[in-house]
Amino acid sequence: MPLLETLTRDVVESVLMGVAVGDALGLPLEFEWREPLDAWLEGLGELECVAPRGYCAYSDDTEMTLIVAESLAERCGVDQEHLAEMLMAKARIEDELRYYGAGTIAVIKLLRKGFPWKKAVLEVYEGGNMGNGAAIRVAPVALFYHPDTQAVWRAAGEQAIVTHAHPIGVEAARIQALAIHYSLSGVEPVRLPGVLMGQAKTREFKTALGRVEGLLGSDPTPREVVDALGNGAPGHESVPAAIYAHARARGDPLKAVLNALSLGGDSDSIASMAAAIAVAYSRGLGGLEHLRDAVEGADEISRVASKLYGAIRECTRG
Ligand SMILES: [Mg+2]
Repeated sequence: MPLLETLTRDVVESVLMGVAVGDALGLPLEFEWREPLDAWLEGLGELECVAPRGYCAYSDDTEMTLIVAESLAERCGVDQEHLAEMLMAKARIEDELRYYGAGTIAVIKLLRKGFPWKKAVLEVYEGGNMGNGAAIRVAPVALFYHPDTQAVWRAAGEQAIVTHAHPIGVEAARIQALAIHYSLSGVEPVRLPGVLMGQAKTREFKTALGRVEGLLGSDPTPREVVDALGNGAPGHESVPAAIYAHARARGDPLKAVLNALSLGGDSDSIASMAAAIAVAYSRGLGGLEHLRDAVEGADEISRVASKLYGAIRECTRG
């Protein structure tokens, strides 16, 4: 069966929904659970859906994912100028409940002042931002360029550099995109860290992905995983943590999110990225399905998914 037939509109929508559901479940914990839990969560329980606005609110992770998806669809691929304009216009950095990272806020403010993105991105941090801000929004790139591994790798980096110029910030986006891409191809969750290690360029990612592989061979506590990988916003901590959460869950979306939440730290981003990978592998939301309509902007996510899927068909597959 041609791969196009396996990448259905439903899969595209489910992956975008997975980003939002993981983000929404992790967001209330981001500032509550800085430390990992003593034991792995077995169910959502009272975490089911904390809804301060009457729905499960999402954060910067989902907002930027939708922006990237729209830009890809409108430009038939990554167009850095267009993406910078879209981020400038649509990223609600003033909304403190979106919890944008300080570096991303600073870059977008400079863009609004008229700085070209190539200048803005190096103005904020010398050497660029190494946070996970470009990785958390990269799911649409993996969907758009799948099944072309090289195109996924290249485009993930191109979209990253618009706000995250540090080699770790860029590699975080590339590795997260490849994790989704390979999972769409059916790479088994426990094999994924080794496959990704073969693609990693930086010492930080090679080391972290090697540790993920090692952890899968034992039965560590959340604390032991965080001691090995970290759970913070830097790309080489939270992206490997998300990959571990997915692999430990053997690709089950709900379990991947529970694992991610157990790690604490940057929980919305780790849960969002873990969910995107696991949903791509299992081709549906699985045990997160009941949250599809509870999440903020479910209709908007569905609309963007249709737009992205239409572009995938028209732009990349003739
Ligand atoms: Mg967030």
